Amino acid sequence: MAEKISDTLLAASTPAAGEAGRTGDWRSQTPSVDQEKCSKKESCLLCWLYCPDGLVSRTFPIEVNLEYCKGCGICAEECPRKAITMVDGRSPQRD
Ligand code: SF4
Ligand code: SF4
Repeated sequence: MAEKISDTLLAASTPAAGEAGRTGDWRSQTPSVDQEKCSKKESCLLCWLYCPDGLVSRTFPIEVNLEYCKGCGICAEECPRKAITMVDGRSPQRD
């Protein structure tokens, strides 16, 4: 018989603790959020849902914990309103 999966699936994991998880110093791309384009609807929040490290806030305006963001770009890929774009460098503003 298949093992029962927990009834309570969490949307995201949490970032690794300590220096090992702190990617803000070396990522090459950074998400930049255009708050005007964001739907600001709790029914969306795909950026929060899909971030593999749980770094996107579940609040509006959307905030990203850049200390741990690894710049994978999943949040930008999943945003249906193209409110998130990936920019080169470690800052949400173009370097
Ligand atoms: S996925 Fe895009 S539109 Fe949806 S809440 Fe996040 S930033 Fe806003
Ligand atoms: S770029 Fe990746 S790690 Fe950073 S906030 Fe988006 S989904 Fe999360």
